[in-house]
Amino acid sequence: MAEPITIATWPFGRTAVEAAMKALARGESALDAALAGAQAVEADTTIRNSVGFGSLPDRLGRLTLDACLMDGRTLACGAVACVEHIRHPSALARRVMEKTPHVLLVGEAAKWFALEQGFRLEVPYTLESLKEWLEKHPDRPNRETPNKNPQPAGAETSGAAAINISEFNHDTVTVLSLDAKGHLGGVCTTSGLAYKLPGRVGDSPIIGAGLYVDDTAGAAGATGVGEEILRIGGSLFIVEQMRAGKSPQEACELACRRAHAATARRGVHPTRVAFLALDPQGNVGAACTEKTNFQYAVGRGEKVELLPAKAIGPTP
Ligand code: ASP
Repeated sequence: MAEPITIATWPFGRTAVEAAMKALARGESALDAALAGAQAVEADTTIRNSVGFGSLPDRLGRLTLDACLMDGRTLACGAVACVEHIRHPSALARRVMEKTPHVLLVGEAAKWFALEQGFRLEVPYTLESLKEWLEKHPDRPNRETPNKNPQPAGAETSGAAAINISEFNHDTVTVLSLDAKGHLGGVCTTSGLAYKLPGRVGDSPIIGAGLYVDDTAGAAGATGVGEEILRIGGSLFIVEQMRAGKSPQEACELACRRAHAATARRGVHPTRVAFLALDPQGNVGAACTEKTNFQYAVGRGEKVELLPAKAIGPTP
């Protein structure tokens, strides 16, 4: 018998961990527990600037959600990306896993599948999220002065649009659970980066980038600038490091170093990524790049605590 444990990204991960630990205490599987945790965060519109309904829309004011999940027992997985008007994209990802032979459905087709599966379409905005969009997004209508310098410190400057990320607009909850039978399960759900280009999809719904779970090696998840995480296949990289004998902590630190090396090769600074990992024995690890200020929630038994992740700077 393993001691059940759940870890989740960011301070709002506490909500996810509490829900997941209750599910594990009822004897539910790691996958069910992680899903219960992710849905608790998706359902909470008071978690501002973050996951699910009430979070920050794209540049056109549309809230599009991404999610995936993975079962460590079988490597079964499912995902949806760029889906609108669905309150629980993680539950929809589970339907993709269970009801189709596929892994990923996107956009309008994912919404059509949701309707076919009996999901309700809902208005995803809150007054607060719309007000914030009208006040802050870089290309808002009727802006009086040209948007000369919209990039916050740390924005990625390459490509057509700057990436707007700060410690205040992280949008992803990744939940990793280990159940009493020693199985691992994980869920990653997000509204993506605030004010993203319409159609942009980050790492979160991509198996191997935002999430990877394998009972024979470990589970890992990510948050931060999705483009940086996609480039290094962040979560699969960490799981493979654990398979090769690294601890969850060492594996997360190596992933941060790899992300730094990737941004250095492109001449883009700074890197903004964070990872967390859980091995089949219940050991946890987490690391982030500097200035990410990443904290994660850990639940064992009835205790839930918020821990700072180790910050990793670029190797000189
Ligand atoms: N990783 C997410 C994305 O790029 C954003 C986040 O974690 O805050 O869509």
